[in-house]
Amino acid sequence: MFVSLPNTVATVVLDAGHGGRDVGVVGVNSNVSEAEINLLITQTLKSKLEDLNVKVVLTRKNADGLYDENATNFKRSDMEKRKKIILDTAPNLVVSIHCNRFPSSERRGAQVFFNNFSDEGKKLASLVQKNLNTINIDKINRGFSPLKGDYYILNCSKYPSCIVECGFLSNPDDDMLLNDENYRNMLADAILSGIMSYLSSS
Ligand SMILES: [Zn+2]
Repeated sequence: MFVSLPNTVATVVLDAGHGGRDVGVVGVNSNVSEAEINLLITQTLKSKLEDLNVKVVLTRKNADGLYDENATNFKRSDMEKRKKIILDTAPNLVVSIHCNRFPSSERRGAQVFFNNFSDEGKKLASLVQKNLNTINIDKINRGFSPLKGDYYILNCSKYPSCIVECGFLSNPDDDMLLNDENYRNMLADAILSGIMSYLSSS
């Protein structure tokens, strides 16, 4: 039997949703794809984590999808590649970055999802949501609670995982904010605070 070592360096997988021919949702006015915005927020968050000596592994590192070009089901191929990176990394936690869409254009704000069968995932999601709710701009945050969700990236490993839907690209104001570097920086800071709270309490 081994005694675990103190001061183990924390490792986080950041998963920028979509990429390549899967652009995800698109801004109602900007026409900018979530794939682009997700990557920008992920890269900002990565450097903030690294500044705090957290090791970061990215699933998607650039605009390309992770799928095998010859795959019959490119979306499945893409998701399986992400799963493999998570399993190979064996991280302390996984955060997947997305943007949302809703039929009613009024809906806005950042919303975090967790796997209902993972207590640690729920804890992580709650801490990230709590910090996102403190972003005080444009009166968009309405005290969201994190939501349970049945999504591949949440279910594909045992590691505490959450999906951050950073805002609604179907809402004109969120669309504008998500295309603003300062706002993306605020989002990254809030997600960072949630991650660090989780790491320091587990
Ligand atoms: Zn998405």
